[in-house]
Amino acid sequence: MSVLFETTALVLSWRPYREHDRSYSAFTRDHGKIEFVARGGSKPLAKLTPHLETMAEVRLLLVDGRQYFTVAGTDRLRGFRSVYENLTKTTLVQNAFAFVDLGTRTHELDEDLYDFLMNWLEFIEKIPEITAERAGFLLATFALKFLSHLGYHPELSHCLVCRLAVREGNYRWHALKGGVVCATCFDKDREQWFAARLIDDVTLKLLRFALTQEFKEQLRPHLSGNTLAAFHETIESLIIAHFPVIPAVSMREACKHL
Ligand SMILES: [Zn+2]
Repeated sequence: MSVLFETTALVLSWRPYREHDRSYSAFTRDHGKIEFVARGGSKPLAKLTPHLETMAEVRLLLVDGRQYFTVAGTDRLRGFRSVYENLTKTTLVQNAFAFVDLGTRTHELDEDLYDFLMNWLEFIEKIPEITAERAGFLLATFALKFLSHLGYHPELSHCLVCRLAVREGNYRWHALKGGVVCATCFDKDREQWFAARLIDDVTLKLLRFALTQEFKEQLRPHLSGNTLAAFHETIESLIIAHFPVIPAVSMREACKHL
């Protein structure tokens, strides 16, 4: 027997499914991530899909069938018009949400993550026109915070081995071990730390800032070319080392042509 239920969700992504249908992934406050199908045959997709974009909080009426959920009705609860109308903002939300889709499993309740996604939408809705560099920086910052939320919080202040606070210019970054190692510990066991690479003070400070400060503060840091490149490389190395799937497009690439 099929059961109808209602939930509030943010659509993470969608893809064509079978010939006329679409398969959706959405994050809900009360069920975590869910997947459902919008049928093209029974009810015209055109009636359902305008609300099923990544730029809105929607109410979903779902049919819990044997094999999968099917959407029977949708209602837009809150639209984010500025995100919808601006290519940079749309890119930022779609890429961030696609990243979350890759990093989460279905039916794992996580209200904090729902709030985090809502927070991101609200932030992006309000930002002024930004450069492609800033957009890439914001997206990478989102990825860093999300990784931290998943449990891959990088250690950026204390040496992973001796736990002493790292001194300026005297440490290396190791993505797989998830943090920095001081020069003394590195020298003691170079074989163990052979993959650790130098990272400069400005980049480390920017990483700490991105990790600890709210989204709205991320419009402030000055972004110089070299630092920004090192910032992206560090976060990409963290994604490669810890994320279940490596996104097809990097945060940098996604924003390159904006
Ligand atoms: Zn140490």
